[in-house]
Amino acid sequence: EQKRQAPGRLGLFNDVLAEQIRREHKLRSRLDEAITRQELLLSYQPLVATRSEQVVAVEALLRWQLDGEEITPDVFIPLAEQSGQIRRLGLWVLGRACTFAQRHLAAEIALCVNVSVVQLEDAAFVELLTQVLADSALAPHRLHLEITESLLASDPERLPLILRQLHQLGVKVCIDDFGTGYSSLSMMQHLAVDLVKIDRSFVGNMDNSGQVIIKAVMQMADSFGYQVVAEGVESHAQARVLKALGVHYLQGFYYAQPLGEHGLLEFLARPQDEPVITPLG
Ligand code: C2E
Ligand code: MG
Ligand code: MG
Ligand code: MG
Repeated sequence: EQKRQAPGRLGLFNDVLAEQIRREHKLRSRLDEAITRQELLLSYQPLVATRSEQVVAVEALLRWQLDGEEITPDVFIPLAEQSGQIRRLGLWVLGRACTFAQRHLAAEIALCVNVSVVQLEDAAFVELLTQVLADSALAPHRLHLEITESLLASDPERLPLILRQLHQLGVKVCIDDFGTGYSSLSMMQHLAVDLVKIDRSFVGNMDNSGQVIIKAVMQMADSFGYQVVAEGVESHAQARVLKALGVHYLQGFYYAQPLGEHGLLEFLARPQDEPVITPLG
């Protein structure tokens, strides 16, 4: 019998790779059943207006509980984008979130939903979205679609057209993770965009280059007429600096974690004389 060899570096690498492929395969196949098995949930994170510090919107964030383990969207969203499963998942998210917002949230509160560029590039997307809006009876202006900036480069010819169609429906468009991608300023000038959301890496780095970048984004937004959201706000100090820089909306753990449906309604209903935060002044 041949003696078993200890795995060399390459063997070890292959083992790790093989394990990863097995895991991704398992996740993809379980994702197909995730909706019917009710393993998917939405959590909602509030966005506050910098001036009033009132909640003006909530962002729907997808959660997956698989056999008691929480799989994070950073893991399963890219897998679902590669396989195309994101189309069905994304439609479920839109339907569920719009229905929830219409039924349970005050009419002044907008709903932000992340949309993958794979969904956007689906020829049927505008039609599907029209149907979701009709079924849920949500006023279109309350829906903000968040598109990740790094993906804007995928089809520069079609994107302006798709965004114009979305505008005709009355929904708003927000560029997510702004500053991390490749979209050029000249391109931004021609896109029908309402909001940009500054990536949290800049908010977390305001002692260094982050603040310079946020100032530049504010100037651009001013010239092009966008409103600006900062995400990943974790402290009072950060919120104060962002306010001084003129950022319109703030989102982050400092204000609230992503909350379940019930937790969000409780958060929104809390007595106004019981502030959860120290006023920015
Ligand atoms: P995103 O759209 O940029 O969402 C913000 C992420 O930052 C969320 O992570 C949120 O929980 C996290 N976050 C919020 N405040 C803070 C903070 O103060 N500090 C830190 N460190 N993090 C904060 P999450 O929920 O894990 O989602 C990750 C990404 O997955 C999202 O980034 C989005 O790109 C994607 N995603 C989530 N749900 C969906 C969905 O329904 N559809 C699509 N296409 N993508 C989704
Ligand atoms: Mg987002
Ligand atoms: Mg994103
Ligand atoms: Mg983001």
